[in-house]
Amino acid sequence: MTDELRLYWEAVQKRICAKCIDGSGNGNCRLSGYEGCGLTLHFPKVVETILSVNSDKLESYIQALRLNVCSSCKHQSPDGTCLLRDNLDCGLDRYFPMVIEAIEEVRPRVLNVTEAFGD
Ligand code: SF4
Ligand code: SF4
Repeated sequence: MTDELRLYWEAVQKRICAKCIDGSGNGNCRLSGYEGCGLTLHFPKVVETILSVNSDKLESYIQALRLNVCSSCKHQSPDGTCLLRDNLDCGLDRYFPMVIEAIEEVRPRVLNVTEAFGD
């Protein structure tokens, strides 16, 4: 993981994973393998997707998520449906608004750090 991604991940872990019903309570995830959360399975793509959206509408972020992440996720069916999503079993989808907030909030700090170190 690059320094940039690590900073984004720490923000997400603190804000979301620490309170997630599938987390251990200290920021770690209890899910793995087939059940693995979309957030851990696709984190670099999730960050890239959120940073690529310039909108104050949640719908724009959701559209980008479906296009860039869900479309290549093993859990999504060819018809675009996802059983995990429908059952609120995908942490990424369940907490997506909070994930957006965490990434956007930490973004200026990450930019400062990466610019300072030429990452
Ligand atoms: S299920 Fe996803 S959001 Fe929940 S603790 Fe695991 S990685 Fe974090
Ligand atoms: S909502 Fe479904 S398709 Fe999208 S990341 Fe989560 S599990 Fe994968």
